[in-house]
This record gives sequence, C-alpha cells and structure tokens, in this order.
Amino acid sequence: MIARDPSSRARAGLLYTPHGIVETPAFMPVGTSASVKAMTQEQLEEIGVGMLLANTYHLYLRPGHETIRALGGLHRFMSWPRPILTDSGGFQVMSLKGLGRVTEDGVWFRSHLDGSPHFLSPEKAMEIQLALGADILMILDECVEYPSSYETTRRAMQLTGRWARRAKDYYDGELARIEDSRGSGFGVRGSQKEGTGVGGLEDEDEKLETPNSKLEAGRPKFEAGDSLRTPNPEPRIPTLFGIVQGGVDKSLRRESAAEMVEIGFQGYALGGLSVGEPKSETYDVVESTAELLPPDRPRYLMGVGTPEDLVECAARGIDMMDCVMPTRNARNGTVFTSEGKVVVKNARYARDDGPLDPACGCSVCRRYSRSYIRHLFVAGEMLAAILATHHNLYFYLDTMRKIRHAIRSGDYNKLWSRVRAAP
Ligand SMILES: [Zn+2]
Repeated sequence: MIARDPSSRARAGLLYTPHGIVETPAFMPVGTSASVKAMTQEQLEEIGVGMLLANTYHLYLRPGHETIRALGGLHRFMSWPRPILTDSGGFQVMSLKGLGRVTEDGVWFRSHLDGSPHFLSPEKAMEIQLALGADILMILDECVEYPSSYETTRRAMQLTGRWARRAKDYYDGELARIEDSRGSGFGVRGSQKEGTGVGGLEDEDEKLETPNSKLEAGRPKFEAGDSLRTPNPEPRIPTLFGIVQGGVDKSLRRESAAEMVEIGFQGYALGGLSVGEPKSETYDVVESTAELLPPDRPRYLMGVGTPEDLVECAARGIDMMDCVMPTRNARNGTVFTSEGKVVVKNARYARDDGPLDPACGCSVCRRYSRSYIRHLFVAGEMLAAILATHHNLYFYLDTMRKIRHAIRSGDYNKLWSRVRAAP
C-alpha cells in the first residue's frame, strides 16, 4: 500500500486527517468559495475527490468565517464529509494588484467586493482557518512575482519565515487552549458526533476504521515509504503546514526550507512556483527543495499544474498538488484528454460524434459527444461548463490514480517516459 518508486523520488503514502485518510500523491480541486465551480458535492464524491481546497480570503469576506463557524464549520456548511485544506489568503491578497500593502505585521488589503479595508496577520489567518474548521491549515506567506530581484525575493522569504513562527506560536497556543476545554472543540463542532446534516459522515468513519487506525484513534499523521511518525498527538485537530519560499533561487529556497524545518511543521508546502517561470526552473526548484524536507512529512506543491506537471512533480517527491487549471480551462471550453488538450469549442468538432476522450471512463465521455458539448458552449448553456468540468476533474484524478498505481507497482518510469514522449 505504501511505497517508494525505485527509479525516481516518487512515493505513495497515506495522509491522516480529522475527516479521513487521503491517498497520496493527491490532487485537490479548488473550491474557491466553498464550491468547485460547476460541480455538486455529490459529483465530487462520485469521481473520487479525496480532499478539497478552499480559499480563506474569499470565505473570510463572504459569508465570513464567524458565520461559517456558527453554522458548524465549513464541512457541515457545504456538506462535504471529506478533508479540506484551506490556504492562508495571502496569495489572493497579494494578487489583488494595488489593493494590498505588505507590512511587518501583516498585509492590508481592500475587499474586491466592496472596497472595505481589512488586515490579515499571520495570527488572523490562523484564526480564520480554525473557525472554518479545515483539516489542513496553511501559514500566511508572502509570494513574489516572477521575475523578482534577489533582494525582493530574499526579503519576502525572510518575512515569510518570521510570519511562520508567529503562525506556529498562535496555532500551538490554540491547541493548548483546546486541550484544556476538550469537548467544546472547534472544527468538528456538530459534525461526526451528532451525525446529522452531513450524510455519510459516520459511514465514512466506519469505512476508514482499520485495526491500526482504531489503535491510533485517528491521529493525524503521514506515512510514506518505510517511515511512520505521529507528529500530531491529538486525534481531531487540524494540521499546520509551513511554506517554503525563495523564488527560483536555490540558495534562498535552501535557507527557507531549513528555517521551516527548524520551526517544525506537520507538512511543508512549496509556494511561489508556477507564477510564470520556465517549466524547467519549476522542476529544478521542486526537485532540489523536496530533497531538503523531512521524508516523513507530506510535501505540497501549491498551484501546479498541467497533467504532465502532476507526473513530473510526483516523480520529484511531491505528495499533494492543487490547481484551478482543470476547472478554469473547462469553463473556457478546453478539456484535457489522453491525446492532449482539446479546444472543444472549435468549429472542427461541430459534427464530431466521438466522446471528449475515447480513453476516458467518466460518465460524460460515456454519454455525450464532442459535437453536443461544442454546441452547448456555442449556445452559452451552463451544462457546457458542467460537463467539461466533470470530465477534466475526472481526468486529473485518474492521472493521480495512475501515478499512485505506478509507484506501488514500482514501474513509475514507464508512466514518466510516456509523459515525456508525448507531443
Ligand atoms: Zn471523460
């Protein structure tokens, strides 16, 4: 079940969270405002989504984290029984050109909704994510554009380090507080124990019970290769990830990785990649940085990428990835297939009776033709986005299944060289 590929750095593992176990390498669809655009939660479950990503920035502004907390947390609010990772909000704030200002304390920004001023500190980002009740929380970081000067990249990397310590202190303090007041807890408020509202939660827990997990009482932990650690002794609490910054400068990445490891997180993310740098640089940074991170902790590559990137980055020791590409491209009429990208909106598919991808087993490919889906796009029907998104996410998750299978079978090279040989 848990394996390392002998010919690459690829590894298959299990990530334990308060809402269940995720098989890694894993791809997380992006559910910006507690919704993966054009998909219902039922469909996400059906195609096998193991973990979702939700955006702190968007949920903080609307409907507000206190509203979600009052409604029993994000899982219950959106009726999603499986794990959720929340980002810190920093990336969104900083990509609002001209609307944000970074200071030592945190970042000032104006809401893109109504222009109201807000302040996000490392502590505030923790507070919001804890209120949302996510399974995996991310520290607030500063991500710089590509290209950026060495000085700018270094300053942002060092600020991220100082923010990481503050986030960790706040998180540790909250954990201590929660331990004191066990039972009134956060995050799982009104979820599993009551068994109402979210169908299947209890069943999910049942299914996940193995002799081992019973012994471990569902402790969040990560198993990769032959190592096994239980970094988090509390069964029902979220896990905190640090973020390595440093642009495409390997020495800055090394410095950042060392600092994050020294602070000590339960998982480590690689941030600030796929922001316009050449692909070879992305792969280089991923490979050299992944090596510096503890092998017994999950590694999360943020915001990457294409189906080929999934294979390339898993080969370099990445365990988790997320990207808006499959969902955003689908809404624009581009689908990923075993034969490459298909712009299904194009006139050449007007009379194409075949499925989006002849090799795909998804319910869209089994039922609908390219000509019909092309027609839906041209006619501006919302079903166009629904069908294309369903297929694209299925394709991504299927790629992850192939990746995990190849790692476990010890023949990752075969899959890898197929991707490299593709046009
Ligand atoms: Zn399909």
